[in-house]
Amino acid sequence: MRDNFGDAGGPIQVFYAPKDAARLPMISHAEGIYMWDTSGKRYIDASSGPVCSNLGHGNARVIAAMTEQATKVAFASRAFFENQANIDLSDLLAKLAGPGFERAFLVSGGSEAVEAALKLARQYAVANGQPERWKVLSRVPGYHGGTLGAVGITGDPQSEEIFAGIARVMPKVPAPITYRVPDGFDADSYVDHCADALEQAIVAEQPGTVLAFIMEPVGGLATGALVAPERYYNRVREICTRHGVILIYDEVMSGAGRTGKFLSAAHWPDAQPDIVTMAKGISSGYTPFGVVLASREMVDTLRESGGFLHGHTYSANPLSCAIGHAVLSELVERDLMANASRMGDILKARLEGLKLRNAHVGDVRGKGLLLAVEIVPDKNSDRTFAPDDHAINRVVDLARERGLMLYTRRTAEGRYGDWVMIAPPLIITEPQVGELVDLLEQSLAAFAEERAQ
Ligand code: PLP
Repeated sequence: MRDNFGDAGGPIQVFYAPKDAARLPMISHAEGIYMWDTSGKRYIDASSGPVCSNLGHGNARVIAAMTEQATKVAFASRAFFENQANIDLSDLLAKLAGPGFERAFLVSGGSEAVEAALKLARQYAVANGQPERWKVLSRVPGYHGGTLGAVGITGDPQSEEIFAGIARVMPKVPAPITYRVPDGFDADSYVDHCADALEQAIVAEQPGTVLAFIMEPVGGLATGALVAPERYYNRVREICTRHGVILIYDEVMSGAGRTGKFLSAAHWPDAQPDIVTMAKGISSGYTPFGVVLASREMVDTLRESGGFLHGHTYSANPLSCAIGHAVLSELVERDLMANASRMGDILKARLEGLKLRNAHVGDVRGKGLLLAVEIVPDKNSDRTFAPDDHAINRVVDLARERGLMLYTRRTAEGRYGDWVMIAPPLIITEPQVGELVDLLEQSLAAFAEERAQ
């Protein structure tokens, strides 16, 4: 992977790329679901960047809100002033998230939100007389961010190996990847096995030491938009409740309406989490932003013991809050969550059709407009690409040549599989869905032709 330190001549961050990756185009401008490079070539933003630009590009209302707030006051620390933009956004977040999420703590991105959620859980346990609870369980594969606390709970074997020690690597349980189940299981029994594994891990660690379990309710890049059967969520909730473990849903990718509901947790009403983290779509990339949502009761408990011991310079800054408020107002007033649901169904059906026609499309999964297409060497087997076979990067390159920008990143040498995220902005229309799938089909046909040679 290249770094993002930059150098005078070279391209910067290439998330998915091996060392010899193609040079990336230079961005010029963007509008709606389209982006143009400086040569004038147009691309469909088929994954909303790294599943971020939910509202699409160049949104006039957001730009106006940004300009107005920057003109009034861009920055005023919460150590000195309250700001109305923070109050308005927090109220709107509480309204959209619903009962159990009356309190919002605003930060500058997904990893910061995850760190804040862990500290909130820990402080709550201490305030409740349970200082021996500190272990945070999570799933493998999984992803919860790049900061050191998040690395310890991110199910990425490569990061764990490199950063162990400086990051405290926490126990992991298997994510219920039903497309490729181990020998001796079918999809249903594997889901039960994964829920059982959570309980066994809690017991093995000694329940009184386990603070929290964190998972993505609809998976992001780490699992390729994994959605489990309903009973998995209900069993996880029941196990956490029985052992006094705080359940954290990481909705950094799946939140903010992308799956058709503001929180994807709302798809499983009997399995509500205690804490939710969000970022990306919450500001649609118009500003670096993240949110931790929790109940009034949880936050008030901390208040009694001196308040939340955590903060950042940019927490709840007026500019980001005004942008977040404009983004969420657009989401609501233009009924974009319903559009995500409707367009998601149409897009998924079209991708299922493509799966029938292309020899390398093994699986199509996800919810709403958080979808992924898994690419396999041979559709008649559940084999993954060899560790040194970067086929998925070739798919991305072929798509980019045809004007389709796709998001992927190969982790653990592809041992869990290879996929691209299909997660366009929530403003996408039905003709644009057709345009996206046509370009993807052409790209995958070219890929199949190359592999056949
Ligand atoms: N959690 C999930 C589920 C994510 O997908 C990501 C980023 O992709 C993060 C956390 C970290 O967010 P950020 O990159 O904004 O720090």
